[in-house]
Amino acid sequence: MKTIDAINRKIAEGNAIVCTAAELKQRIAEDETITAADVDVVTTGTFGVMSGTLAVLHLPVTTPGTFRHAEKVWLNGVPTVPGPCPNEGLGSVDLVVYGTARASSAYGGGHLFRDIVAGKEITIEVESSQKRFSRTVTLADMGHARLITTRSAFKNYLAVINTRPDPVQTIFSVKELTGPFREASVSGCGDINPLQNDPGLNVIGVGTRILLNGGTGYIMGAGTRSSREKPNIAAYGDMHAMQPEMMGGFVTSVGPECNTSVAIPIPVLDDTVLAGLRITNDRIPLPVADVRDRIPFATASYADVWDGTDPVISFSPGACVRCDSCPAAQSCPTGAITLQAGIDPLLCVNCGTCVRECCGGAFSGNLGVLPVGTMKVPITLRQSDRARALRLCVHLKDLILDRKFSLTGKMEDLL
Ligand code: SF4
Ligand code: SF4
Repeated sequence: MKTIDAINRKIAEGNAIVCTAAELKQRIAEDETITAADVDVVTTGTFGVMSGTLAVLHLPVTTPGTFRHAEKVWLNGVPTVPGPCPNEGLGSVDLVVYGTARASSAYGGGHLFRDIVAGKEITIEVESSQKRFSRTVTLADMGHARLITTRSAFKNYLAVINTRPDPVQTIFSVKELTGPFREASVSGCGDINPLQNDPGLNVIGVGTRILLNGGTGYIMGAGTRSSREKPNIAAYGDMHAMQPEMMGGFVTSVGPECNTSVAIPIPVLDDTVLAGLRITNDRIPLPVADVRDRIPFATASYADVWDGTDPVISFSPGACVRCDSCPAAQSCPTGAITLQAGIDPLLCVNCGTCVRECCGGAFSGNLGVLPVGTMKVPITLRQSDRARALRLCVHLKDLILDRKFSLTGKMEDLL
């Protein structure tokens, strides 16, 4: 059996064998005889809508003594929760912002977090004793800017379908989710998801160093609604180190949600750990639930979502018929479409909405179908971006190979 210390020494010496989860599965498909001696670290990742995300910030507002207590605070119009420290008379504020807080139907906490990390100017407005104070700040002005997840990187998730005729507005759809059984909305990155690759929670636990939105973070413990069968993590990370491309806002039919990403290195200590890493999409059940109660009534698999489908959506400008107002651009949940430039790859999360909305067929991508009983239900929305998660796995692998990221052993079991 290898140890974390021994693997870290190999990383420091530049001798560690590191591969992504996708690369490992490809190697295993070609050579079943691989053992734990053949690989030291496997990088896993996931990216998608994760509502349980918040930020804890400390921001300067004005000179000390100008106001006593910040009673209400907005950042770019997004309402925040001032405190818990009262910061009496300091002219600065501690506050908490929910990733699901909303300034409008198109801008929320997830958009704000990305703008902060991108270094954009953020307008802070403070209400105190019926007076208003405002200024602009950037991340450089924030001594403390920490992102926290209360529930993230679920060991895969579920597919949602409307089983009745009346359409439903939901966090699982960009437009109304139509029925009965007309379309499916799916979440989860399948066999590259971190917790899916450590089913026994042998190496992932409290204290594990990870990438949260592309920057170094740590697992604090199990997230809310975790169970042994379907765990998720609570984590934190410094926003100063994060990458805007690995986070952001996502506008659903009931308002803005928050995109978050997690990458976790799996140290291949022995063949038991390697056995967990052998999981493939076809062996991962995908529960299918009705949108109203979210109680699963059928099971598909992640092979239906990610095997033989197109992880990346493409755009063919020549097919555009120049509609009066571009329904694809208007529906894009991340604002990634302009007719001049097509798809902005830094904003696009490959959700597939434009494929359905485009009048001219200029957007293309096979999103797959879910077998539900005797029916085949087309997938029309992906709320997880496997292409981006794959890039995250590569990024973490490169950090380890460049000796910029070492592994930590877990201090306690997750559950
Ligand atoms: S796939 Fe289309 S609709 Fe979805 S984010 Fe990308 S450009 Fe926007
Ligand atoms: S919906 Fe499609 S065809 Fe119509 S303007 Fe937009 S890209 Fe062009």
